Amino acid sequence: MKGVSSKRKLQLLLLLLIISSVLCLLIIIKRKKHEKLTDYHFFKDDNRFFWDKRYVDSNEEETKVEEIVAGKYIPPRRVVHIDMKGAPPRLSYLISLFPILSKAGATDLLLEYEDMFPFWGPLANISARNAYTIQDIAGLLHAAKENNMTVIPLVQTFGHMEWVLKLERFKHLREEPHYPGSVCPSREGTMDLLRLVLTQVMEVHAGSSHLHIGCDEVFQLGSCSQCVQRINKVNTQPGSAYYNTRMLFLDHVKAVASFVNRKGKTPIMWDDMLRNMPRSEIKDSSLGNIVELMVWSYVDNIDTYIDYSTWRTYSELFRGVWAASAFKGATGERQHIPDILSHVRNQISWLQVMERESQHEVDPVKFKGLALTGWSRYDHFAVLCELLPASLPSLVVNLMVASLGGLQFPVSRRIHTLLGCDNIKMLISIEELRRNPYQWDLTRCSWSGVRLFTLVANYNLHRTEVDRLHSGVVERSAWMSTWNVRHSFSSPWRVKEIMKTSLYLPQAVRELDTQARRVLPHFLVVRWFTHRAPRLFLASQQRRSL
Ligand SMILES: [Zn+2]
Repeated sequence: MKGVSSKRKLQLLLLLLIISSVLCLLIIIKRKKHEKLTDYHFFKDDNRFFWDKRYVDSNEEETKVEEIVAGKYIPPRRVVHIDMKGAPPRLSYLISLFPILSKAGATDLLLEYEDMFPFWGPLANISARNAYTIQDIAGLLHAAKENNMTVIPLVQTFGHMEWVLKLERFKHLREEPHYPGSVCPSREGTMDLLRLVLTQVMEVHAGSSHLHIGCDEVFQLGSCSQCVQRINKVNTQPGSAYYNTRMLFLDHVKAVASFVNRKGKTPIMWDDMLRNMPRSEIKDSSLGNIVELMVWSYVDNIDTYIDYSTWRTYSELFRGVWAASAFKGATGERQHIPDILSHVRNQISWLQVMERESQHEVDPVKFKGLALTGWSRYDHFAVLCELLPASLPSLVVNLMVASLGGLQFPVSRRIHTLLGCDNIKMLISIEELRRNPYQWDLTRCSWSGVRLFTLVANYNLHRTEVDRLHSGVVERSAWMSTWNVRHSFSSPWRVKEIMKTSLYLPQAVRELDTQARRVLPHFLVVRWFTHRAPRLFLASQQRRSL
């Protein structure tokens, strides 16, 4: 009897074990399903860190890379700029993109943290509340390395310093008291602050060979009393060469670049402040011996902005030159989706210019690579432009164009595969981009970000319809002009007829709002969606009130 009882106990135990295993399995499946449903949490709004390497590999390519790039100019390095300002990507999401970026030809990442870097000690309060942690960044750097990409951190050290200079504590370092954009190069404390900022960033990025020091768009320069006094003082010294605001700029950049150089890293700076500077002034500063230049232009004809003599100056005076194009954030301050065609034309123009200038007979430009910038907003105070997840197709297309030298059929095939597009979606060729520069039918594909793209597509659809309706009703109709509305004088039947086509609008706008709240975290619904939608809501409310 005892034997039977033990056997029964064992059977019962086994049964319990099976039931608990099944339950565990069900929970895991449910969690996986839930993870998939909430997989569109792209943006970092808390400090959680996920290690997530999900990535579905693409099919075998038909044409070998060597065959595609034969005879074409390919930039030695292809850098992807990740702008963390305003819409910081959740690290799990960003890391999940690395294999795709690497496969599309990226060799480096240019990380612009701004206030998302976890500064510490006396700088602790310049970081945003949701800044990444040191561990986050360590994970990011590790993932980049695993995907064969190096990391170049970017820290602004002259202009675009609103994120620091907006704070009461650093207000005294502004060039002009009312504008928190540019730091004063003559004020005591400026270099102390910059050295501290740079030291902390370099400490976390010990393995990086380069550091980008920004220095673009210094809109306020040499106007404060201290700068004016400094210029006057130098100019009144007997035997000294004429000193001006341009030299003030060069001296400050040189001080910052020398500091980075002494720490064993090569500094890179944006070129725009040097573009119209006399060659002799740049040469006398010897800046080109310690800093590499990143020449940026986001237009479809680079030659209209960077002329022949500028290239000769850069080639003669700088030991290394990078080019910078764009894949988003460069065609409109409030653009909601990238114009892929414009960006592809920008890459193609760069490839042509880089090929020509690197083969110049007398002074070939020593190009290090091409950086594809993806701006989140035009400055610290601006509202957001295109969001990264919805811009991934533009990034993949433009990166492929830069890495494979054009947008020929085999390149289009690879893009199609990387974005998980189905057979109904047309291949992204130049002709197809001319027909549809925004590629709205990318909703047919399955890249990580397609749900946000679908939201933007729906917003665009309603926005276009409301704009059409608004112009028809207010500007062309004779019964709903501003005069009719102001005097409440119109034909009710005509008004009803005119507004017939907008019957669907209130419900559509409500659905769009629900969709936005489902796809975007709360802070982005506020920052990205709400300021774009008022016209839709207004139109919907007007329709309701009729
Ligand atoms: Zn000053």
